[in-house]
Amino acid sequence: MELPFAESYKIKMVEQIHPSTREDRERWIREARYNLFNLKSNQVFIDLLTDSGTGAMSDKQWSEMMIGDESYAGASSYFKLKDAISNITGFPYFLPTHQGRAAENVLFSALIKEGDFVPGNAHFDTTKGHIEFRKATAVDCTIDEAYDTFVYHPFKGNVDLGKLEEAILKYTPSKIPALVITITCNTSGGQPVSMENLRQTYHLAKKYDIPVVFDSARFAENAYFIKMREPGYQDKSIREIVAEMFSYADIMTMSSKKDAIVNMGGFIAMRSEELYRKATVFNIVFEGYITYGGMSGRDMNALAQGLYEGTEFDYLDTRIKQVAYLGTRLKEYGVEIQEPFGGHAIFVNAGSMMKHIPKDQFQAQTLAIELYLESGVRGVEIGTLLADRDPVTRENRYPKLELLRLAIPRRVYTNNHMDYIAVALGNVAARKNSITKGFRILREAPIMRHFTVELERV
Ligand SMILES: *Cc1c(COP(=O)(O)O)cnc(C)c1O
Repeated sequence: MELPFAESYKIKMVEQIHPSTREDRERWIREARYNLFNLKSNQVFIDLLTDSGTGAMSDKQWSEMMIGDESYAGASSYFKLKDAISNITGFPYFLPTHQGRAAENVLFSALIKEGDFVPGNAHFDTTKGHIEFRKATAVDCTIDEAYDTFVYHPFKGNVDLGKLEEAILKYTPSKIPALVITITCNTSGGQPVSMENLRQTYHLAKKYDIPVVFDSARFAENAYFIKMREPGYQDKSIREIVAEMFSYADIMTMSSKKDAIVNMGGFIAMRSEELYRKATVFNIVFEGYITYGGMSGRDMNALAQGLYEGTEFDYLDTRIKQVAYLGTRLKEYGVEIQEPFGGHAIFVNAGSMMKHIPKDQFQAQTLAIELYLESGVRGVEIGTLLADRDPVTRENRYPKLELLRLAIPRRVYTNNHMDYIAVALGNVAARKNSITKGFRILREAPIMRHFTVELERV
C-alpha cells in the first residue's frame, strides 16, 4: 500500500481549548453584538478567524527567542534578520515594522499622494485602507476567473494584463506611484499568482517605469503552488522559486504573521537605496529606530528562523495538504466552496448557500454566526461587511463574492479538528432553508467597519 500523508512535525507542547454548549454560544454571540471579533477566545472551540499571528512556533524559533539581542541600535538580531531577508528574497535594503499594515503605512507615506491610483490584483483590506486613507484609489485588475467559484483556474490570483494596461493608460503613469501585487491573493480566496504572470506584469510595469510592490504575506505558499502547478518548476526548490518571484518586484511589504510563522512582526524590503532613505524617515517616526522598527530583538530572531522554516517544502506540503483535506471533506458534505482550494483557507460560497437571505442582511455574516452557534467554530465574513461603503456615496459596496473564510492557523490543529469543522458546516448546510433572516447594523466605524460593527437580528 502507498503510505498515507502525515505531518512533517510532532507536538512538544499543547494548549487547552474549550468546548461549550449551544446555550452558552447563543448568549455569548448576542453579548458580542453578533460580531465574531467581539468573542472572547475561550468562547471559541476551533478558531479559524485568521491565520495571522496564530501559528505555532517551532522549538528552534523558541530557542532563538532566548538569544535575542535587545540593544537599541545595531543589535545582532537585526543583522540576523537582514541576512535571512536578503538570502531568501534578494532585497539588499530592509526596514523592520511591527506588522504588515505598519509596513504599508511607512512605504505608502513615502510613495503615495492624494489623487494617485494604485492598480493590482484585488488589494488586501488594510492595503486598500492605507491607499484610500491617503485619498488615492486602489484599482482591481484581477482576472475574471477569480470571481467564478465554479471555474477551475490554477492561478486565480493572476493580474489581467489587458485590464492593467488599460488602467495605466487611463490614469496615466505619472499618477501611478506603484502596482501592488498580492501573493497569494487573499481577497480572491488565497489564490496564487503564476510565475509567468509575475514576469509579464513586471515587464509591463517597466515599460511605463512604474515600481512593483509585492504584498508578500503568503509568498511561500504562492511558491508552493508554482512548484506544484506551473510547468517547468517541479524540480526547483521553494527557495529557488521564491528568489525568481522576487526578481520581478522592486519592493515588498511583509506581514510576518503569515508565512514567517511568528505571532507579531513585519518588514519592508527594497532594491532602491533612495527609497530606503525616504522610507527610513517615516519608519523612525511611526515604528522605531531603523535597526528594530517596532520589534524586539528576540522577535527579529524568531522571524529570521521562521523565514527559513516557512520556505521548507515539507512544512508547506503539510500545511497546504491540511487545508485541502478540509476542502475535500466539506465537498463530501455538499458545501459549496471555492476551487481550487486556497493556500491558507477554505472559502465557502455563502452567497449561494444563503441566497434566500437578502444581500443587505449580510449572507456571509449570517452563515458565520450559524457555524459558531452549531459548533463553536469561528470563521470570518469576507463579504459585504468587509467590503464596506463606497467612500464617496457611502452606499454598501456589494462584492462579487459573498464568502465565509475558514483560515487555518499554521501547525496548530490536527485533521480531527478538520473533520469536526466539516461536519459542523455540513449540518448547517443541511438546514440552511430554515435560516430565513439575516442581520442589520446597529453601529459601525467610518473605515474598516467589520472589526467593530455591532449587529442585531432582523
Ligand atoms: C495580513 C495581511 C496584511 C496586513 O498585515 P498585518 O500584519 O495584519 O498588519 C497585508 N496584506 C496581506 C496580503 C495580508 O494577508
